[in-house]
Amino acid sequence: METDKYLKIMEELTSNAHEMQEKLLEEILKRNAGTEYLKGYLHGQADKKLFKENVPISTYEDIMPYIDRIANGEPSDILLADLVLGFLRSTGTTGGKRKLIPYTAESLDKMCLQPILAEAVMGKYFDGLDKGKGMYFLFANPEVETPCGLMESSYTTTYFKSSGFENSVAKICTSPVEIILCLDTQQSMYCQLLIGLLQSDQVLRVATIFASTLVRSIKFLEDCWKELCFNIRTGRASDWITDAGCRNALSSVLTEPNPELADSIERACGGQSWQGIVKKLFPKTKYIGVLVTGSMSQYIKILDFYCGGLPLVSEYYSCSEAVCGINLKPLSKPSEVSYTFLPNMAYFEFLPVKEDNEKLTQESRETENKNEDIEPVDLVNVKLGQCYELLVTTLTGLYRYNVGDVLMATGFHNNAPQFRFIERKNVALNLEFEKTTETDLSRAVTDAEVLLEPLGFLLVGHTSYADTSSKPGHYVLFWELKIPGTSDMPKLDPKIMEQCCSTVEKSLNFQYGIQRKYGVIGPLEIRVVKYGTFDALMDFYVSRGASITQYKTPCCIKLEDAINVLDSKVVGRYFSPKTLD
Ligand code: AMP
Repeated sequence: METDKYLKIMEELTSNAHEMQEKLLEEILKRNAGTEYLKGYLHGQADKKLFKENVPISTYEDIMPYIDRIANGEPSDILLADLVLGFLRSTGTTGGKRKLIPYTAESLDKMCLQPILAEAVMGKYFDGLDKGKGMYFLFANPEVETPCGLMESSYTTTYFKSSGFENSVAKICTSPVEIILCLDTQQSMYCQLLIGLLQSDQVLRVATIFASTLVRSIKFLEDCWKELCFNIRTGRASDWITDAGCRNALSSVLTEPNPELADSIERACGGQSWQGIVKKLFPKTKYIGVLVTGSMSQYIKILDFYCGGLPLVSEYYSCSEAVCGINLKPLSKPSEVSYTFLPNMAYFEFLPVKEDNEKLTQESRETENKNEDIEPVDLVNVKLGQCYELLVTTLTGLYRYNVGDVLMATGFHNNAPQFRFIERKNVALNLEFEKTTETDLSRAVTDAEVLLEPLGFLLVGHTSYADTSSKPGHYVLFWELKIPGTSDMPKLDPKIMEQCCSTVEKSLNFQYGIQRKYGVIGPLEIRVVKYGTFDALMDFYVSRGASITQYKTPCCIKLEDAINVLDSKVVGRYFSPKTLD
């Protein structure tokens, strides 16, 4: 890997952020001003000033009719000039609905460049990564043909099938691509673990994309390590592995019995505690590559436990709509991770967030008060400490498109700003006049989680919903608790659980406190669910088209069927006291 070459590219990109952005916008307009979508605003003129004045901020609903028309066979130049190769399907669990984003040869190249740049940064912090392998947990999901014959698939599946993946990550990944592309998740996960364990002495990092996938994979290992050891001891794969790609891939690695390795895995997994299990199984691991920012921060505690304190590195920030940024300081604490935006990836604008005064600087608040209609600002003009909604304009037909993420500007690298991921916009609990955001909820749950620590329980999954069937309505949190290393249900002390309920309530915002005091909102409830419930929730979303690799546990659920999945596994219900002191 040409680390220096790519680090130099990063320096150039970030030094010329403004020029690159201007050039990119010019190019987008030059190519796409004649599309039906833009013609309505620009009358065919590729003019940047007109673009800012006339083109409105958009959401998926605005481009959906165009996407649907393209998917149904109309020429794609109604939205973008370049040849569309297919559609990227975003997970749809964060914002609710699934979205299809067109991709082209050029946008695919950009997708593939991001991991290469991130890898160069990792190479700067960790020596010799190219001398070993990565135990990656990566999963593809099915592709669907649209009526026009183009395929829709997830961002990650598209990437796994690209030559960019083949020429980079695939070369160091313990699993051959056939296993990654196997659509039977159980077989794929099992074989990824087996093949990773067989090469454990070469593994220098354990990684996936989102933290939730790694937690799921470790929990899976808890259930199947004995069978894996049997396979390794005998040199034979289990009969239920029937996928041809998986069997073929295993045949080149599982060639002979290896009782020593089986013994050492048995010692690690059968020991007293699963604390640091990842380090025990893959002793040369230097870091864990998982995104633990935003909603993924709920997994930090459990990953710290399983990974024995190895650094959890969030390498990049990206979405189906556009590649955005890279973390240039991989060793920073998860709460301090910022992503440096790459000005060649998309034309970025930032809409200052109106509410959430806590997060605005005094200066930005003053400017904001003068401006009723807040205008988006360019990449290089963001103010430090201010929160923004991210807007992207791309060659793939997105124009001032609101991604739905809230980011805070935290610094600059050369001339390119850095952002901390704050939360998904509009993902919030909502009752009466109260709104509890993803960040509010996550902070409150973290406060309450402390009460569980002395009991040895870990919170392995949580989500919430606003229950309006009770009078008054109240917030319900679903919690899955676990004693690591066993699938036994922890014995819960109702007093402590009630304390957890009131700790959450006390940590919520001021408005919540008022509404609770006057009885507009009822006492908060925690419903403890059975072991494995959050896996079942993931399976539910995956069955609706979400990708395991891109799955993010929703912090708040509105979909009734998803609530039913959780409700069917409740083992205990606990409430905060009637009055909140
Ligand atoms: P998708 O819609 O499946 O393409 O997922 C993209 C979304 O995942 C983004 O809009 C973010 O909400 C979230 N996301 C991506 N990267 C990160 C990250 N590094 N930290 C937290 N959330 C992220």
